[in-house]
Amino acid sequence: MNFFTTKEQSGDNCCTPQPKGKVVCPSCGQKAKGVLAKTLDALLTSSAKSSLSCLDGFYYCKTAECKTIYFREDQVLTQEHLSVVVGLKEGASPATLCYCFGWTKEKIQAELQATGATKALEDIKAKMENPGCSCEVLNPSGGCCLADVTKGIKELN
Ligand SMILES: [Zn+2]
Repeated sequence: MNFFTTKEQSGDNCCTPQPKGKVVCPSCGQKAKGVLAKTLDALLTSSAKSSLSCLDGFYYCKTAECKTIYFREDQVLTQEHLSVVVGLKEGASPATLCYCFGWTKEKIQAELQATGATKALEDIKAKMENPGCSCEVLNPSGGCCLADVTKGIKELN
């Protein structure tokens, strides 16, 4: 019997690379996080996509006052290049915080005014279990919204 295997799982590079580490936004100087090509593929307008040779290697700027949403070296993408409104940016309407389950600052504020509390976090956490979320292709950040929702509730309270 020979139990020797050469199973190598680490050499699988078929997927789009996630930019590693954090870099600084050229517009506001704040740290920005890498986003997957599939996030841009889902959220950019078709004309923005056709002007880019590929969608790899972009970073997402979450600074509210900064107009830059995605950047890659000297390429900058703003709201006009996206098919969804980026809720975390200043003046955004609707100010969507959770793209998977449709929680906006407006909805949370209405709930706070009506009942003094919001069940946004409970609702999101329950739905993350079932049916599950799709942050990678719905949320402009490409990631989980819970920190943004928590911060949004604090600001509105
Ligand atoms: Zn920025």
